[in-house]
Amino acid sequence: MELSHKVMQIQPSATLKISAQAKQMLADGVDVINLGIGEPDFQTPANIKQAAIESINNGQASFYTPATGLPALKQAISDRIEADHHYHFDPSQIVVTNGAKLALFTLFQVVINPGDEVLLPVPYWVSYSEQVKLASGIPVEVGTDRQLRFTVADLEAQRTAKTKALVLNSPQNPSGLVFSRAELTAILDWATQHDILVIADEIYEKLLYNGNQFTSVLELGAAYMDHVVLINGVSKAYSMTGWRIGYAAGPKAIMAKMGVVLGHASSNPAAVSQYAAIEAFSGDQSSVETMRQGFEQRLNELYPLIESLPGFKLPAGKPAGAFYLFPDITEALRLTGYTAAPAFCTAVLSEAHVGLVPGEAFGLPGHLRLSYATDLASLRQAYQRIHEFMNKKI
Ligand code: PLP
Repeated sequence: MELSHKVMQIQPSATLKISAQAKQMLADGVDVINLGIGEPDFQTPANIKQAAIESINNGQASFYTPATGLPALKQAISDRIEADHHYHFDPSQIVVTNGAKLALFTLFQVVINPGDEVLLPVPYWVSYSEQVKLASGIPVEVGTDRQLRFTVADLEAQRTAKTKALVLNSPQNPSGLVFSRAELTAILDWATQHDILVIADEIYEKLLYNGNQFTSVLELGAAYMDHVVLINGVSKAYSMTGWRIGYAAGPKAIMAKMGVVLGHASSNPAAVSQYAAIEAFSGDQSSVETMRQGFEQRLNELYPLIESLPGFKLPAGKPAGAFYLFPDITEALRLTGYTAAPAFCTAVLSEAHVGLVPGEAFGLPGHLRLSYATDLASLRQAYQRIHEFMNKKI
């Protein structure tokens, strides 16, 4: 049977693919260290689990909730945003979804008409481009410099009459880059002037290291907010990837239509997860800082090791946020004779048993991404294995 032309253009998620391979190898008895997936290894904090258990035991979790989320959860999200960024969203401007991934997917369905273009500065998270295509849009890459930064001139170079939106991910997956207030202001001035929607994916906002500061687009002032949709969720900050709660917040007209789409596509995200998320956003926040410190220690230990590998370069220096390193391995490829990052990553997985994701998945060949959201002992061992692999090949 002929399948949809749209779906035939879509690549499987490279990070999920590497993980599946690594898991299969583990099941086959191979001792794999998977640095391929962006998933905190910490347990969900106990107070959050307890709130979920209570919602099951008192019967609240047994039923459908409104498709766009429980009013109490929207209120908790609104309060959290107000406390953190001093910006007020009315709960009617918030849509809760089955992970931030579905918030993005639904948003693209709502704002894109066939042929509309969405700007994606490289490198970008794997799913943006595929979700844009699934909405009949066209992903347009925006070039960046060696430090992976871009300017308004780079955006302007790609702007056409069809440009509808720009995805701004800070702290960024895969590079850990964080945009400064001045950069954000320039970008939002440009977007507002040209009536382009800024999709601000701030899911790593709590994960900043070594004194680096995060500025949310929400802090730039209400004048921009007609052109901003915020994407966020509980997966990374509260170590809740399995619970699947994300959200979008923005202009009422867009949110209302997202509600219509979700009403047909998914209905509400699991009620039990929503009760857990209320506690995540409104309960004790100290576990967020404890986990952040854990990531910081890992970054500070792993960064010099990865930088010391032959042919691995990080021209932007130590990342400010998220939990990934994204080295340029052009020189490592030359030294080892591999033609490109996918072949290199496949060889590292099968010979050194370390899962890594090639930069092609993020629109930037000649790089790879490794996640340090795993324990220090595994990270040290992964480094040793890559080091030995390189020594063998050179
Ligand atoms: N946005 C970015 C940049 C991500 O890295 C991820 C997860 O890896 C997500 C969104 C989606 O997160 P979730 O669907 O778990 O909320």
